Amino acid sequence: MITGKTKNLGVIGYPIAHSLSPVIHNPALAKAKLDYVYTALKVAPESLATAVNGLRALNYRGFNVTIPHKAAIMPLLDEIDEDAKIIGAVNTVVNDNGLLKGYNTDAAGFINALKDTGFILENSEVVLLGAGGAARAIIWGLIKSKVKAIHIGVRNLAKVKDLVQEFSAYTAITADNFAADSFKAKLKNADLLVNTTPLGMTPKVDAMPPIDWQDVNPTAFCYDIIYTPAVTRFLREAKANGHKILNGEGMLAGQGAAAFTLWTGIEPDLELMKKSLRESLAAN
Ligand code: NAP
Repeated sequence: MITGKTKNLGVIGYPIAHSLSPVIHNPALAKAKLDYVYTALKVAPESLATAVNGLRALNYRGFNVTIPHKAAIMPLLDEIDEDAKIIGAVNTVVNDNGLLKGYNTDAAGFINALKDTGFILENSEVVLLGAGGAARAIIWGLIKSKVKAIHIGVRNLAKVKDLVQEFSAYTAITADNFAADSFKAKLKNADLLVNTTPLGMTPKVDAMPPIDWQDVNPTAFCYDIIYTPAVTRFLREAKANGHKILNGEGMLAGQGAAAFTLWTGIEPDLELMKKSLRESLAAN
């Protein structure tokens, strides 16, 4: 029951009504017998600074940050965790007695879901399809997991030039056009192939990233960070071609779990988070 002692958590974004975060967090908070409530808060871009100060004034224990505020919130916080600084985006804020510290738990969500399958990241060759906002956290998670090399396939090389230069300080990283022969050679050697584009996401479920399965290493593990639908065309075709597959549900639940621990100091029931997520997706 919500009482005068109940602590507040939430997610800010715009729009926000579609957010699955309340569905992930509230059952896990109840299961852990923690007296918190987690709500979705619609914050327009022009109101971001006011909202952040308001959440501090209202003694929110913390909050998640989603599109379009993940980068814009950074100068409004008192402190930023080193990983979030490198990624360039904050998705979780912790309020310690009025001091707001920003974190990024997307990298942990991505990596932990993959490790749970038994995949060994260390020394692996990784190919990413697309390199937008989510990819930056994924790249940093891969670098921290000591992969051998990261190769990115894109439709617009000029757009990723800076990203490649920035992360080349930490790992071997290249980018190619999807159609280039040099990219096909990367696909041949890939141990892990990750779709970070929105191609195949509901409602355009017939779309998929522009790759030919003949070019892909037959033993590559295929990971799509999309979670609606649960099985994208990319994953369906990967499976039909004999690849092991993973969708984005575990990443989404995992970033939530990491945020939950930052706020409460307790590890949530991750399986319950995933179950709540799947049930909510199925109901919609
Ligand atoms: P984003 O910042 O818009 O980046 C999308 C990337 O895909 C960009 O590199 C973009 O290339 C590329 N792309 C888009 N349309 C393309 C097309 N038609 N052909 C080739 N490349 C295309 O998006 P994001 O925030 O990274 O999110 C990407 C996907 O990941 C979404 O489906 C989102 O739902 C999902 N996601 C899942 C999780 C999770 O927890 N599971 C977390 C975050 C995101 P250009 O730069 O050339 O446009």
